[in-house]
Amino acid sequence: MAHDLSEVAHALIRGVAIFALITLAYGFLTRNVAAIVSKGVAVGMAFGLAAVYAMSDPFTLAPGVIIDARAVILVLSAPFGGSIAAIVSGTIAGTYRISLGGAGAPVGVTVIFASVTIGMVCARLLERHDGGYNIRQLVMLATAGTGQSLLLLLIPFFAPGINASAMIVPHVIANWIGILLLGGFLTNENRRRHEARALERFAITDPLTGLLNRRAFDWSVAEAVNASGQLKGRTGLLIVDIDNFKSFNDRWGHAVGDQVLRHVAEAIKEEVRNVDTVARFGGEEIVVLLPALDVARASAVAERIRTTIDENVFHFSKIVGNVTVSIGVAVGEPAVTFVELFNAADQALYRAKALGRNRIDIDPVPLDTPIAA
Ligand code: GH3
Ligand code: MG
Ligand code: MG
Repeated sequence: MAHDLSEVAHALIRGVAIFALITLAYGFLTRNVAAIVSKGVAVGMAFGLAAVYAMSDPFTLAPGVIIDARAVILVLSAPFGGSIAAIVSGTIAGTYRISLGGAGAPVGVTVIFASVTIGMVCARLLERHDGGYNIRQLVMLATAGTGQSLLLLLIPFFAPGINASAMIVPHVIANWIGILLLGGFLTNENRRRHEARALERFAITDPLTGLLNRRAFDWSVAEAVNASGQLKGRTGLLIVDIDNFKSFNDRWGHAVGDQVLRHVAEAIKEEVRNVDTVARFGGEEIVVLLPALDVARASAVAERIRTTIDENVFHFSKIVGNVTVSIGVAVGEPAVTFVELFNAADQALYRAKALGRNRIDIDPVPLDTPIAA
């Protein structure tokens, strides 16, 4: 049966359009659904519904020779969505195919099952890089994914009279190209997301210490205060400053100084909670924002940091001696501005330095009332 060219073109455009819609939905869901399980279910539902749509919009190559994109979608479900997505999409597609009925149903359901299984095996064997597959891996996926087309040979057992062997070659070609195409779309989507995440991380990280940088610290502060710059809840602040770091650098060189900075950063991170923000504020000053801590607890954290650095940090080079830090501690209650809190911690640090260094100093005035203007 000869096809009108525009008929073929329309079928191709519809096929690519489904792939583009899947890619859009996939991008949206992977970005916005956080938990692994619900992400798998959501992606599985999107792939499953797309497979259902593909089955409801098949292309008739010749009488009895029907082709649709279900296998392409289902083969890629596990490699891009994980096992949960594969099972969910396979269940949706299989249920729909059973509900359609007809002589081809047993083979149709088997194709669905085989596609999902091939995808799951490939997902185990192929390692993703930056969330996607390279060309060689996509070709392997496409080649393995076309294996389910051989199941069409079973059709005559269920529906005598259909020339199944005539269907095989077009099926293999269409599925092969389809898997490469949709696999390429999805890879591209994941790569873009990974690049965006890497850039975000890059923008907020201090390259030397791996701590958050000043920009990220400002964001954390912005979250902790209201529109007038007043703290929303009780907040502790530590300003950690390495003692005599200038002469240390002068004596041992900048490279050793950098190494010390990294150790100090590491030691501070070890002593704080996940909710605390540790950032390199500038030079050799590191700030720690401690939400919901009172003075006693904030001071305890500061003292732990000081002791750890005094005792441990510098064991990487016995020749060089010891490194210590001084820490200014302040705690502000709601309605105190962050600027007031910072100044209080800064003054405490100044006193710690003046009193001999390697010590913490605590802001003596409880910052529980706004200072009258
Ligand atoms: P104090 O005990 O009063 O804090 O003395 P200090 O020498 O640490 O203070 P000062 O502020 O005079 O010197 C800070 C020094 O920190 C100056 C600079 O050499 C050093 N520094 C700042 N940033 C870096 C860095 O990224 N790497 C290294 N190696 N040194 C740094
Ligand atoms: Mg300093
Ligand atoms: Mg210093």
